[in-house]
Amino acid sequence: MSATNTPVGAAPAAPAYPAQVTGMDILVRALKMVGIDTMYGLVGIPVTELAYIAQGRGIRFVGFRHEQQAGMAAATHGYLTHTPGVLLTVSSLGFLNGLTATANATVNCYPMIQISGSSVREPIDLLQGTYEGLDQLNIAKPLVKAAYRVNKPEDIPTAVVRAYRAAISGRPGGVYLDVTTPCLGAIMDSAEADKLFYEPIDICPAMPPSPEAVKRAVSLIASARRPALIIGKGAAYARVEDLLKDFVDRTGIPYLPMSMAKGVLPDNGPLSALSCRSTVMEQADVVILAGARLNWLLSRGHGKWSPDTKFVQLDIDPEEIDINRPIAAPVVGDLVSSLDAILAALPEKTAIDPTWVPGLQAQTKEKNAKFIARLTANASAQPMNHWTALGAIKPVMAANPDVILVNEGANTLDDTRDTIDMILPRHRIDCATWAIMGMGMGSAVGAAVATGKSVVAIEGDSAFGFSGMDFSTVCRFKLPVTVVIFNNGGIYNGIGVNMAGTSDPAPTTLDVHARYDKLGDAFGAKTYYVTTPSALVAALTEAIASKAPALIDVQLGADSGKESGHIGYLNPAALENITV
Ligand code: ADP
Ligand code: MG
Repeated sequence: MSATNTPVGAAPAAPAYPAQVTGMDILVRALKMVGIDTMYGLVGIPVTELAYIAQGRGIRFVGFRHEQQAGMAAATHGYLTHTPGVLLTVSSLGFLNGLTATANATVNCYPMIQISGSSVREPIDLLQGTYEGLDQLNIAKPLVKAAYRVNKPEDIPTAVVRAYRAAISGRPGGVYLDVTTPCLGAIMDSAEADKLFYEPIDICPAMPPSPEAVKRAVSLIASARRPALIIGKGAAYARVEDLLKDFVDRTGIPYLPMSMAKGVLPDNGPLSALSCRSTVMEQADVVILAGARLNWLLSRGHGKWSPDTKFVQLDIDPEEIDINRPIAAPVVGDLVSSLDAILAALPEKTAIDPTWVPGLQAQTKEKNAKFIARLTANASAQPMNHWTALGAIKPVMAANPDVILVNEGANTLDDTRDTIDMILPRHRIDCATWAIMGMGMGSAVGAAVATGKSVVAIEGDSAFGFSGMDFSTVCRFKLPVTVVIFNNGGIYNGIGVNMAGTSDPAPTTLDVHARYDKLGDAFGAKTYYVTTPSALVAALTEAIASKAPALIDVQLGADSGKESGHIGYLNPAALENITV
């Protein structure tokens, strides 16, 4: 560490600053000024000292093995806390690795700020071959909500406030803040630096909708015969569970959650239409979208949707309206303000058809009975398949409703989402809008650190591979995270055939005999290898209760799971039709 640094571990009070401070000191102080208390990252030149200073001055630094996972943690932290998560990366490759997560955060409307050190500007601009020379700002720009570079220590507090505002206001997203090596190391007199700090006013302003928009929406809702509410993760993020509960209690409108919105209102509540998605799409006359986009996950408003359905869309982003289909009543504003206004204007009586909800409830009952039969059908068959394993997990999760569920994979994602009911808001974190793999360990760490709650990550074996080394981060930070790996030996499944007939594995084939539990042993976790539902119940129960790092290798059959899970239709051709 350079001699000019503030001593590591110094108290944060102003007198503890020496007569001169560096850009790094100013950056840490600026982050504290806006309330940042946690930073995720992976250090190296030029940000190692910065992380030491941050830790010394009371910002929790959670160091990872791969920047993408640190970024996933920051994004999850942002989503769960309604404040930007912060990711710290080194220049060039570290920056690029982290940018994947920042781009994913932008797509998913998670507020986060990636702060990356970057090399000296001049030789980058003149392509003179400098250390880790990369034009990071321009690479980041198209992938993030906003991108800034700060070159002078005097500008750091302004840059941090602007990055914070951009990440959190309006539609949240990923923000890139480039800090050059000279800026990090620049020295200023403390007395001068002191004058730079200020308290930003109204850093996440309310954005109320227009009264006309509210009126239009309310009259459509009030006149609906077969209305339904679709809850998206924007509503989970906006923390409007109480307002939505009030809305459905007063109107009797059934609700359908998007994946990460499961639990905003309980999946098992009397008005939950979770099992009646197709019926809602085909029959609802008015659908209220609350923080949910009419994107591919809702067939972009086509497919099964009735062409006559009218949409009320509550969203903070005016550009989201009409993206795939005309929206009859857009309500552009933040969800708290919009729902407040709608609730205030709702009439006592609506026109809801008295047979609509009972019909959905009867269908729910019937479908749930069939589903339970599927979970228990082959309970004693060996090896287990996804359904038997999930049948074992379901009651354990039901007994631990406050555990946050992280979930990725293909079949592991789809089948877990269908099986595990969520009762509490913001308790399900998954691959989300891009349906990406490689968010598991990062999101699990971010969820545990941000909330202090226990986490269970249910991972496909392929999905786990993207972030597996960061299970060691779970262990180093002694987090209450249980990782459950569904090992069916492959991407989708383990029965792919090499079409050349050589001994190389097929493109989808991994290792159905891999003992992932031994990976956990390497880092001192509690580990389990289970082959039966009863052993899985016992292992998961014990692991959750331990509130310590744990890893459960669940042995499935190689033939369990189909190509691409529920979204095989997105492939250009089905695997069984491929010829060479
Ligand atoms: P899901 O996949 O669960 O449907 P999406 O991420 O697709 O959720 O959509 C979330 C939507 O919520 C986005 O269009 C975003 O603009 C919106 N949103 C995010 N935060 C707020 C907020 N505070 N108020 C209103 N809308 C919001
Ligand atoms: Mg969506």
